This record gives sequence, structure tokens and C-alpha cells, in this order.
Amino acid sequence: MLSDTERREIQQASAAVQRLAALHLQRARSPQSVIAFIGNLHRGVDQVVQQAQQAGQALACESGCSGCCSARVYASEPEIFQIAATLKTRPSAQFQAVLGRLQTHAALAAHLSTATHRSPCPLLENHLCSVYAVRPAVCRKAHSLDLAACLRPGAAIPQNLNILLQAETLIAGTAAAYQQTGRAVRGHELGQAVLLALNDASLLSRWHAGETVFPTAG
Ligand code: SF4
Repeated sequence: MLSDTERREIQQASAAVQRLAALHLQRARSPQSVIAFIGNLHRGVDQVVQQAQQAGQALACESGCSGCCSARVYASEPEIFQIAATLKTRPSAQFQAVLGRLQTHAALAAHLSTATHRSPCPLLENHLCSVYAVRPAVCRKAHSLDLAACLRPGAAIPQNLNILLQAETLIAGTAAAYQQTGRAVRGHELGQAVLLALNDASLLSRWHAGETVFPTAG
């Protein structure tokens, strides 16, 4: 439970992130540069996790453990377009394979919710994230302090509150900056939204022009 002072400090920190990010976004002209700006958020969240580890916080997460990649993931518009652009650079056979997984996933995910979604992310390959360098902020902040809890179905996963709060501050401030500079940024179910972005090349320019192009999160 946060005190009023802590809540106020978080709001002030988020507003500071928004001001700085909006300054940069106002100078970004092309859709590509507006999308690439999300990399600053990703580096910021990575830094939050690294700093917690350097301060002595041990995490239970290891490479190849993809337990949390079966939860429903919500990603923002720039993250979705960045992942779609990355997938388009894949050799044809690899691209077709991931497209098939995205289609299967989308049909399933459309009938699931955050509470009921337990299905591997279509971007997982051999228990590794195939878009690791451009994975969404929510994936970067996800962590566990207890592997045993991860292995118990339905158990609450203990997490570091500072990591969560600092990451959320960066995410909220960045989203507000995108909104302030005229682009909708909300959370959309990752697999379905990436499939839409791959299937309709006009979505990027329409979003850049201020249109809402993905269905509301669900
Ligand atoms: S995008 Fe990558 S890290 Fe995120 S859920 Fe999918 S496979 Fe896991």
C-alpha cells in the first residue's frame, strides 16, 4: 500500500518523463522515428531491472524459462509496429511459420481474457523470445523472486515493488507523451495486434496521422 506522498512522487516522476519524451516526440517526423522512440522506454525499463539487481535483488528468472510468456500480453502501438517490422525482415520460411502461429493464436486469444489466457506467446521459439531486442515494456518488467511460485499453478508471483513502480512510471509517462503529441497509445493483446499490423500496411501511416487503428484492449 502506497502512502499519499509516495503516490504524489510517482505522479511527479511520470509527469517529468512525459515532458521530456514529448519534447523528443515533437521533433520526430517520420512514422519510423516516432516508433523507434519507444526504444528509450525499453532501455529505461531494462535499466530499472539491472539497477535493482546491482543493488542486490536476486531474480529467479533465467534464460529459457518462458513461464510468464503464456500470460496475456498487452503492448502499445509503437511496440506492435516495431515487432511487425522486425518479423518482416525474417527469411520467408521463418516468416510464414510465425504468421501461422499468430493466426492460430489470434483465433484462440479472441475468446480469452486476462484471467483465462494461458497460451504460449506466438513469438516464442524453443522457449526463447524470438523478438527479444524489441519485446514490449511489460515483458521487460516481468520478473519473479521465487521460481517455486512460478511452478505452482495460480500462485501469486512475488515481485520487487520498486521495479514495478519505476517501470510503470516510465511506461505511463511515455504513453502520455505519445498521447500529448497526437498518437493513440493503449495496451492491445500482442498476438492479435501484430497480426493486424502485418496484414494491413496502411495501419502505420493511419496511426501516425492520429487514427485509432487497433481494437480496444480485451
Ligand atoms: S514477446 Fe517475447 S518476452 Fe513477451 S511474451 Fe512473447 S515471447 Fe515472451
